[in-house]
Amino acid sequence: MCYAIPGKVVSVGKREVAVDYFGKKRIVANHFFEVCKGDFVYAQGGFVVDKITFEEAKPVLDAWQKAFQGLEQTDAGTNYAENASIQNTNFSEILQKNSLSKQDAFELMSIESENDLACLYNASNALRRKKLENSCCVHGIIEFSSYCSCNCTYCGLRVDNKQLERYRMSEQDVFSAAEFAVKKLGFKALVLQSGEDFSYSDEDLAQIVQRIVSNLKVLVFVSVGERSKACYEKLYKSGARGVLLRFETSNPSLYEKIRPGKKLEDRVNLIKHCESLGFIVATGGLIGLPGQTRQDLVNDVFLAGSLGEMVSFGPLIPHPQTPFAKESKVNKNLVFKTLAIARLAFLNSKILVTTALETLDEKAKREGLLTGANSLMINVTPRDLAQKYSIYPNKAGVDLPLQREISQTINLLRSLGRSPTDLSAKNVIQ
Ligand code: SAH
Ligand code: SF4
Repeated sequence: MCYAIPGKVVSVGKREVAVDYFGKKRIVANHFFEVCKGDFVYAQGGFVVDKITFEEAKPVLDAWQKAFQGLEQTDAGTNYAENASIQNTNFSEILQKNSLSKQDAFELMSIESENDLACLYNASNALRRKKLENSCCVHGIIEFSSYCSCNCTYCGLRVDNKQLERYRMSEQDVFSAAEFAVKKLGFKALVLQSGEDFSYSDEDLAQIVQRIVSNLKVLVFVSVGERSKACYEKLYKSGARGVLLRFETSNPSLYEKIRPGKKLEDRVNLIKHCESLGFIVATGGLIGLPGQTRQDLVNDVFLAGSLGEMVSFGPLIPHPQTPFAKESKVNKNLVFKTLAIARLAFLNSKILVTTALETLDEKAKREGLLTGANSLMINVTPRDLAQKYSIYPNKAGVDLPLQREISQTINLLRSLGRSPTDLSAKNVIQ
């Protein structure tokens, strides 16, 4: 979004370029632009998404130059909690290790004391800073259809929820929402999300993506559930470069209970296929499912990190028109523990603070960014429709005017010293 810094191209390869941000160099894939040394580009998620002139880049770079160093200093002084010191020698040994085993993760998942939790969060935040510096990416999400043919027991869009007033956006409406998000709000990455709505053919989806990618300067993720492998191949060819597809739980029998008629193996195979096609994969699961154990959550973290470079975990928010209506509220520390363990286990991952986490607790967006996360989403669905996209009730953010939500998010990122450079340890040139 308007929180973005252009970089200067310092060398050009066949499908990638090296980009300089105030002396820091990154390698970025370039699939869509003619780029020469000395050009200025915006990159997002490891991809060049826009090429701009020196005249356009200069004022933005001038404005950022001073702030850039200040942000690093702010981040360096920012912890989840001050004055926490670890008492439990077992935990402190685990936190000092270079790699985390599942057994270690299970021990960390069992932490309950406030002090030990604060130490865990401080450690994962410090690791995020050491490995990925202070970069933070912000994606916009457009929820383009609330129709769904599935009956997931956790989700308000399930087909059996007859009380839901549903909507479906036309290609033109999705394009207009994307155009507004990119041109007026400055987003550089968008997620197009929907229920499993087969009234859009594969061609329809590909057409929507292609129109957005060829007319707007933006990285497109799709989050449309279980479509065929051929559909995802089409979406890649039409220019989408990211897929958000959670496996929800790594426990196969729990999976079959919460996604009736579906198999975990099929979902995981599809996620692997998307990765093999070249998509950036964002995946993860739900925290707080009935019957889910600590060991399940540990397994979830390891599966997510092995499947995708972006990790997305959020709490189950009970929806009144689902079989999980009476489930109790998830403890936010269970979510923070999962994010922190994901950071310790997968040092270079982008870890999302999800809207569901923000919905659970209004302070959780800030706190999640201090427990190892470095990625956010802002809902840019037209506001009247976003209210109807009722995966869960009282979704955070959608009752605020969009501009207000964006400025609050930018203020939060600045206060935490997070910078909008397109960094990941994968693309840092040492
Ligand atoms: N239909 C697609 C994308 C939309 S659902 C799919 O299922 O992949 C996007 C995500 O919303 C799901 O992956 C699920 O983890 C999450 N979700 C659904 N219901 C939820 C609830 N009640 N609380 C929290 N997250 C929920
Ligand atoms: Fe449909 Fe996705 Fe909700 Fe399942 S989680 S009911 S697939 S929208």
